[in-house]
Amino acid sequence: MAIITKSYEPTFWDRLYFPALIKGLMVTLRYFFKRKVTIQYPDEKYVPPDGYRGLHRLNKYPDGRIRCVACEMCSAACPADCIYIVPGPAPWEGGKERYPVKFDIDLLKCIFCGFCEMACPEEAIELTEIYDFSAYSREDLLIDREGLLEVYELTKNQNYYSRTDKSKKPAT
Ligand code: SF4
Ligand code: SF4
Repeated sequence: MAIITKSYEPTFWDRLYFPALIKGLMVTLRYFFKRKVTIQYPDEKYVPPDGYRGLHRLNKYPDGRIRCVACEMCSAACPADCIYIVPGPAPWEGGKERYPVKFDIDLLKCIFCGFCEMACPEEAIELTEIYDFSAYSREDLLIDREGLLEVYELTKNQNYYSRTDKSKKPAT
């Protein structure tokens, strides 16, 4: 049997509209003096918390050698299959024998899960706080080894957005 629902009938107070208007203004007033959560992006940049998974970087030793030994553990762990590595003999004397001749990441395929960072036995690949990167073509979103090393230089000592020294952890 069909159920007939009576349509909404506005009351006398509803028809006045003022109670609803005042109620809405009270909500505005309540939030007006609260601390703002919005920011004036892009003039003002959001500073992500520690552990944020943004643009990747390839880490280096203090003497400038690339930490990566081209073992390809990261690409094996990558669920998006977006890391392409070509290994080759390391150009420097002593230490690690292999290094990546080519190391590309397709940022359009990456889901920023951080599995590559977790799988790396050399702490060579790391996800940084950088989130506002873009390009006009798909090809430009394929970051290569030089690009990854550049990100390392930009983020090794300081937070990319707040410019705070990364070695100085805030007191807890
Ligand atoms: S963050 Fe995840 S998806 Fe992106 S490259 Fe690393 S493992 Fe692959
Ligand atoms: S980044 Fe780490 S896991 Fe990936 S190839 Fe280099 S050493 Fe291996």
